[in-house]
Amino acid sequence: MKAFFADEQKRHDPKAFLSSGAPQPNPEQPERAERLLAGARATGLTIERPRDHGLGPVAAVHTPEYLAFLEHIFARWQRIEGASSEVIPNIHPLARDGAYPASAVGQAGYHMADTACPISAETWQSALWSAWTAVEAAEAVISAAPAAYALCRPPGHHAFADVAGGFCFINNSAVAAQVLRKQAARVTILDVDLHHGNGTQGIFYARPDVLTVSLHADPVRFYPFFWGHADERGEGPGLGYNFNLPLPRKSADAAFLEALGVAFQRIRAFAPDALVVALGLDAFEGDPFGGLSVTTPGFSRIGEAIAKLGLPTVIVQEGGYLCDALGDNLTAFLTGFGGKQR
Ligand SMILES: [Zn+2]
Repeated sequence: MKAFFADEQKRHDPKAFLSSGAPQPNPEQPERAERLLAGARATGLTIERPRDHGLGPVAAVHTPEYLAFLEHIFARWQRIEGASSEVIPNIHPLARDGAYPASAVGQAGYHMADTACPISAETWQSALWSAWTAVEAAEAVISAAPAAYALCRPPGHHAFADVAGGFCFINNSAVAAQVLRKQAARVTILDVDLHHGNGTQGIFYARPDVLTVSLHADPVRFYPFFWGHADERGEGPGLGYNFNLPLPRKSADAAFLEALGVAFQRIRAFAPDALVVALGLDAFEGDPFGGLSVTTPGFSRIGEAIAKLGLPTVIVQEGGYLCDALGDNLTAFLTGFGGKQR
């Protein structure tokens, strides 16, 4: 298995976010990348640097309006007298079909879903390199590698076509899936992060060529609240091509693996040519978010089960926050999946 990461991905260093209204240190820290690198190396993988793939593969899933916003908003924000040091929104439109404001404050509210994705001077470059890591892994699989691991940080699955949110700016899993579509007629994205992959769902919601499947803590009382419910099945030509499996809080290995079996039935019926695994490790019992109770050996069994699908696979890193076992959980998943041999 090939593995990819670029040092530029560590430069994004968000300071704050609001949790239940209170300012807290932002959990999406550069240190995550160090722990995950160590976890990947512990399986014997060599980390390669991705190439600069330009804006094309990113623009294939995000709107030009949004990408221009991401690139330039920090410089524009700095020109506002008295503004915060990081771009953080404070007003949002009720609907998205009205006027597009010219103001930086208005556009921040339009393009940022919440306060968990502050934008600083380094954010755009870090997010781009994170996306290029996903592109490189997808290209490796197109070039006949059976599997590749993209250490994407910042993560991506809460980013919609034109909205950042939940620590995410560019949807790396969606970018990888779209690259795979160059060769694969049908692609499945299987999201095993603790949180519902609402951005990924949104990007492919009306499309039948990418089946989106997500296992996550039930959003009825958990982020992202407004998405991830079982009755969200896609729309238009995409109706029937989105599958959500919300799990009760604190579900552990047995319940997770059972739901994974249900997901596999749907995936096999779609007969995809390639798979993207949106690999969040925050379903861990010791993760600071504390939503589910998957164990370290559980991640190994999840990796093993996914490998049995026998599909060319791009593993894209999503969540998983600072705790002692973060690196070990990645090692467990990758080893279960087949590690170096795949
Ligand atoms: Zn998550």
